Amino acid sequence: MGVSAGRVGSCVKSAMGKGIITLTGDKSDLEQVVIEGDYEGHDFKVLLKDVLYQADYGDDYEDGSEGATAICTCCDPDDYPMRAYVTRLCQGNPQFDSGKFHNHCTECKGFGKCIGDYRESHCEVCNKHWFTGLTGFPCDNCQQKKQRERMQKALLAGDPRGMYRIFQDDSEEEEEEEEEDVRDEENCVIM
Ligand SMILES: [Zn+2]
Ligand SMILES: [Zn+2]
Ligand SMILES: [Zn+2]
Ligand SMILES: [Zn+2]
Repeated sequence: MGVSAGRVGSCVKSAMGKGIITLTGDKSDLEQVVIEGDYEGHDFKVLLKDVLYQADYGDDYEDGSEGATAICTCCDPDDYPMRAYVTRLCQGNPQFDSGKFHNHCTECKGFGKCIGDYRESHCEVCNKHWFTGLTGFPCDNCQQKKQRERMQKALLAGDPRGMYRIFQDDSEEEEEEEEEDVRDEENCVIM
C-alpha cells in the first residue's frame, strides 16, 4: 500500500493496536474517515492516510503547525490551507487541535497514549505525567510522594514538630525559593 511503517505516528499505531482503527489489509483502509467537521471555521474530512505520519507532539503550534498533516477541504491545498492535528485518536475520541493539546506520550507502555497539553511530560520514576512547563518543573507526583513519605516518617517517630516543619518548608518553597528548589531537586530530572 506504499505505507512506510517506520514513519507511522505512534498515536495512529496505538489506535490500530487497540482496534480503534481497524484494518482489513485492503487499500481502502487508508481511505477511512477518522474525523470530519468544522475546525476554526474550515471544513475537514480527515482520512486515515492524512494522519498516518502525523507528529506525536504538537509543539510547533505557534509556527503554523507544520507537523499537523490534516488540511482543510475548503481551501486550495497549494495556498496555505488550514492545518490541524487530530489528537486522542488512540483513545477513540479524535479531536481537532492546533497542537498545543496534542501530546501523544510514547514512553507509556505499548505504543503510548495521548496526554493532552504539550508541556506535560512522562516521569521515568513514577510513570505518571506532570506539568513540566517550558522551564522544566520537577515531577509533582514524586514531590507529593516525597512529602507523604516525610510525613509518614514524622508520624511514625511521633514528631508533630517535624510534621509542622514539613508544612512550613513547603509553603516557603512555593513563595520564595521555587526557582532554586527546582534546580536542586535531584529526582525526576530527565538527563
Ligand atoms: Zn479552509
Ligand atoms: Zn507517558
Ligand atoms: Zn494518541
Ligand atoms: Zn514522578
